[in-house]
Amino acid sequence: METLNIKGMMKNKHLSKSIQEQGLYEFKRQLKYKCEFYGIEFVEADKWYPSSKICSRCGHKKTKLSLSERNYICEKCGLVIDRDFNASINLSRYSA
Ligand SMILES: [Zn+2]
Repeated sequence: METLNIKGMMKNKHLSKSIQEQGLYEFKRQLKYKCEFYGIEFVEADKWYPSSKICSRCGHKKTKLSLSERNYICEKCGLVIDRDFNASINLSRYSA
């Protein structure tokens, strides 16, 4: 699981409404419960871990990635991948 900088995101008027609607705290509570139930380790990534900015193929880290960029395009190895999918691969390898 990735901890997001919710307070920071709430300052963005385009994001704040959709964040409020998502019930993230309840989601986290339920996910934690399910993990305990099934004996799965619950790992929470540091909120400053740049999951979206790291290339899941070569490890290159972008200095800037704007929200409008829906695809991650790596300028080092040429990988083109959906940004959320790229972030999820990075998070799957994250260890606390
Ligand atoms: Zn790359």
